Amino acid sequence: MSNFLPNELIKRLSEDEHFNQESFLETHESGEKVTSIRLNPLKKPREAYDELAAVPWCNDAYYLKERPIFTLDPLYHAGCYYVQEASSMFLGYILERIGLRDSAIRALDLCAAPGGKSTLLNSYLGEKSLLVSNEVIKSRAGILVDNVTRWGMHNVVVTNNDPSAFGRLPGYFDLMVVDAPCSGSGMFRKDPAAIDEWSLANVKLCSDRQKRILAESISALATGGYLVYSTCSYSREENEDIVDWIMEGNGFESVKIDFNSAWGIEETTSTSKGAFGYRFYPHKVKGEGFFVAVLRKTGEQGSFEMRRSKPEKSPVSKVVLEHWLDNIASIQHFLHGDNVHIFPAIYKDDLRLLQDMLYIRNAGTNIGKWLGKELIPSHDLAMSVHVKADLPGQEVSLATAQQYLRKENLDRSNFEVSSGWCLVQYSGVNLGWVKVLPNRINNYYPKESRIVHL
Ligand code: SAM
Repeated sequence: MSNFLPNELIKRLSEDEHFNQESFLETHESGEKVTSIRLNPLKKPREAYDELAAVPWCNDAYYLKERPIFTLDPLYHAGCYYVQEASSMFLGYILERIGLRDSAIRALDLCAAPGGKSTLLNSYLGEKSLLVSNEVIKSRAGILVDNVTRWGMHNVVVTNNDPSAFGRLPGYFDLMVVDAPCSGSGMFRKDPAAIDEWSLANVKLCSDRQKRILAESISALATGGYLVYSTCSYSREENEDIVDWIMEGNGFESVKIDFNSAWGIEETTSTSKGAFGYRFYPHKVKGEGFFVAVLRKTGEQGSFEMRRSKPEKSPVSKVVLEHWLDNIASIQHFLHGDNVHIFPAIYKDDLRLLQDMLYIRNAGTNIGKWLGKELIPSHDLAMSVHVKADLPGQEVSLATAQQYLRKENLDRSNFEVSSGWCLVQYSGVNLGWVKVLPNRINNYYPKESRIVHL
C-alpha cells in the first residue's frame, strides 16, 4: 500500500510492536468519516437517539449514520447536543473512574475552545461544581462562550488568559484538563489538508509549547488533584514524553484507568517513569487519533486563604427573578453593567477571586437587561436550563423554527399567545424569544447567531 502519510511519522509509529501499519494506512486511505454527538442530559427534545449505536465510553453519546447539515437542525442551535469526536469523549469515562462524576469540585479546562471537553465536564461534574473554561485566543474564546451558553448551565466562568495567569491561583483547582494544542496527526483522516503541514520541527515546537503551558499553570492544581493531559497527536514527544517530563519534577503519580479491552484502546507506558497513557487509533477504535493520560498531584502544593466577600445589594427583586427562573434558592445574582447574571450561590467568593486574578469573558448566565423596573430577557436566558418552565411558549414546525433561526418575519397566526414575551419551542425545547404584538411578531433571535442562507 502506498504511503501518503509523513514517512517520519510512520517510521516512529512502527517502533511500537503493536502498531499495524497496513490497517493504519488503509483506514486513512478509506476516507471514512465518523460523526458522533453527545446529548445534553438537561435538555430533552422528543426526538429519540437511543436507536443509534452508542459510544461505549461516554454517557449520552451516539454515532450518527451520516453527517447531517447541523446548521439546519433547530436542536443543534438549542444546545440539545454537541458534535464531538468520539475518542475525545473518553474524558467522560475517566471522570467516572476517578470518582468525580456529580462531585462538588473546582475544575479548570485550560485550553477549552471550541468547548467539547468543557460541555462534557459541565454535564459530568454537574451543577455542584465550578468550571473555569479558559481559552487564550480571543476570537476562539467568543466561540467558547457561545457553546457553553447554549449548553445552558450557570456554573461556568469563561476566561481569556494565557496559561501563565493560572500561576496566580496556587492549589485552587481539584481537576485540571489540559487538552493541549498539538501537531494534529490524529486528525489526518478527518482533515487530510493537515498532512502537508506536519513536520518533525513542528512536533518539537508543539512539545516545547506543551511544556511551557504546563510549567506555568500546574501550580494551580491542589494536592490530591487530578491532571488530565491530552492531545490529538500520535507523537511520543507530545504524549508519553510530556508525561515523563511532568513526573520528573516529582510530586505526581500516574493513574491507571481500567477499561474494556474490546474497545480497542491501547494502553502505553512512558519511557522513563512507566506512566500510563491511552492511545486511540482510527483503525482500532471508532474515532480519530487521540492520546490521554491521568496524573495525580501527590506533592505538597502551597495554597491561599479565600477571602469572604459581603453580599452585594441588588435592585432586582426576588419577585422579578421568580418570574423568569425556577428554583432560585441556590442561585445568586449580580449586576454587570445593566445585565443581570445568575451564578451558583456557593461560589460567590470564588467569583470575586477569579475577577481579581483573570480576564473574565462571561460568568454564569446573563439572564437579561435590567431597565430599573423590568427585565428584558436575554437569549442566554432562553438557552438556560433554569428558565422557568411555565413561561408562555409556542411549539412550532420545522419550517417555522428555521425561519425563526434565520431571523425572518414570522406569521402571527402561528402563535396562540395573545401578547408579550414568548419562547419559541421546537420538539419541546426552547430556541429563543419573540415578542407577540396584536398584529405581528417581533423576532428576538440574536442577529450574530442567525443562520445565513446555505
Ligand atoms: N479542548 C477543546 C475541545 O475539546 O473543544 C479543544 C482544544 S484544542 C486541542 C487546543 C486549544 O489550545 C485551542 O483552542 C488553541 O487556541 C489553544 N491554544 C493555542 N496556543 C495555546 C497556548 N500557547 N496556550 C494555551 N492554549 C493554547
